[in-house]
Amino acid sequence: MIKRAKFHVASIERRQSGPDGESRKVRMYAAYNGQQNCDNSDYWQPTPDSVVTLCTVDPKLWGEFELGKEYYLTFEADTCVHDWVVDSKQPIDNAPGIYVKEHCVTCGKVNTRTE
Ligand SMILES: [Zn+2]
Repeated sequence: MIKRAKFHVASIERRQSGPDGESRKVRMYAAYNGQQNCDNSDYWQPTPDSVVTLCTVDPKLWGEFELGKEYYLTFEADTCVHDWVVDSKQPIDNAPGIYVKEHCVTCGKVNTRTE
């Protein structure tokens, strides 16, 4: 399994969806040899021509990514067999169904879903 990859930020797009729905779309391409750092060819070999696109809605994250800067991406398999406990249930505005928030008592992961 690939444990670590390296990407450079190629574009950051400001997006608006609804009155309060602002986000940033960050597109990154695999770092290649000849760019800023000498270890780029080591990362290019196992993941050539790879693309990562992030959509961030948390304003605290928007300053974390800079155009042209390189970032490492670490992969870790999720091995927990989640044991979910429901924290809250509430009706969805203007739609059928229930919005459920829950967390795993083993690993602490938070999940949201509809039912
Ligand atoms: Zn878990």
